[in-house]
Amino acid sequence: MRKPFVAGNWKMNMNSQTGVALAQGVAEGAADLAGGSVTVAVIPPFVYLPPVGQAVGSSGVAVGAQDVYFEEKGAFTGEISPAMLKDVGCTYVLCGHSERRHVLGESDELVNKKLLAALGGGLLPILCVGELLEERDASQTEQVVERQIRAGLAGVDAEKMATVTIAYEPVWAIGTGRTATREQAQEVHAFIRKLLAEMYSETLAAEIRIQYGGSVKPGNAKELMSEPDVDGCLVGGASLKVDDFVQIIKAAV
Ligand code: PEP
Repeated sequence: MRKPFVAGNWKMNMNSQTGVALAQGVAEGAADLAGGSVTVAVIPPFVYLPPVGQAVGSSGVAVGAQDVYFEEKGAFTGEISPAMLKDVGCTYVLCGHSERRHVLGESDELVNKKLLAALGGGLLPILCVGELLEERDASQTEQVVERQIRAGLAGVDAEKMATVTIAYEPVWAIGTGRTATREQAQEVHAFIRKLLAEMYSETLAAEIRIQYGGSVKPGNAKELMSEPDVDGCLVGGASLKVDDFVQIIKAAV
C-alpha cells in the first residue's frame, strides 16, 4: 500500500517572514496527517531552507530542495551540494523539474547526474517528468516520458530506486490553470508504473510513488488522487497558501 505524498514546490516565491509563516501554517494544519497517513514536504528556495526547517520542527512535515548540483564541493560558483542540503535538514530534492529542463536548459544527462549525486548523498529524489503541449499533440507523451525516466534513472539500482519518487507533470499543465483530466493523469501514471516494472520488477514498481503535478488545486486534488496510480501531488501555486495546501493534503486520504 503506497502512502500518499503531497509536496509543495514554492519555486522562487516567499521571503524569510512569509516563508516561515507558511511553513508554520502547514505544520499546524497538517498536524494530524503529516508523517502519519500522508507524507508531506515543503520545498522552499535554498536560502529559506534553515528557517523553514526550524518552523516545521518535529511536526512531521519534511523539507526538500528545488535542485542540487552533482559535485561534492569545489569551484562551482552558485551551486549547492547534496551534503549541504543534508546539513540544513533537507530530506527530499526535486530533480529535473520542468522549469529547470525548459527554462534553465537542463538535459536528461544532467538530471541523471544530479539524481545519482542526491542518492549518493542520502537525499530522496523526486524525479520530475512530463511532455510539452506540442509533444502531447503529436502523440509523443509516452515516448518523452519513457526517455526522461530511462535517462533520469540510468545507473540507479533497485535498492536505491525504492527511495525515489516520480512526479508526472505535463508541462502544459504547470502554472497554466489547465489540469490534466483524471483519466489523462491515470493513463500516464499507469504507463510509468508499467515501465518501472519492466526496468526493475513488478514488486518494486508497485511500491514507487508517482505524484501528479500541474495546476493542482483544492477543487481538483481529490479526484486526481482517487485514481489508482496517482499517489499524491506535486503542487506549485496552490502550495503558497496555507489553506489551499492543507486542503490538498487532506484530500490525499
Ligand atoms: C510545480 O511547480 O511543479 C507545479 C505543478 O506548479 P503548479 O501547481 O503551479 O502548476
